[in-house]
Amino acid sequence: MKVFGWGQVSTYILAGLGDTLETLTEVCDRLIHMGVYPFVVPFVPISGTPLAYHPAPSSEFMQSIYERVGAMLKQSGLHSANMKAGCAKCGACSALSNFEVS
Ligand code: SF4
Repeated sequence: MKVFGWGQVSTYILAGLGDTLETLTEVCDRLIHMGVYPFVVPFVPISGTPLAYHPAPSSEFMQSIYERVGAMLKQSGLHSANMKAGCAKCGACSALSNFEVS
C-alpha cells in the first residue's frame, strides 16, 4: 500500500473452501477499508491435486458474494478500472468487476 498507493493493490480471495458468506464479506470489507481490492475468485478443483474432489462453490453463492462485495466497492470508490496492473486489472478469473457498478 505504501509503495503502490490506495486502490492499486489487490489480493486473491478464494471462495468455496468453507468460509461463510459473512466471513468472506467481513474480510473483503476490511481490505476495502485499507484500500486493497479483494479479488474474489471461485475455487476450481484441479485433477491430480489434494483438493481434486472438493466441490466448487455454487453460482448462487458466488452471485451473493459478488453482489455484496460489488456494492462495497462501489460505495468506496475502489474500482478495478482504475487499477494500473494486477489480477483486478486483468479480471479474467473473476466476475466481480461486473458487480462494481450494478
Ligand atoms: S488470468 Fe488475470 S486474473 Fe487470472 S490469475 Fe492471471 S492475471 Fe490474475
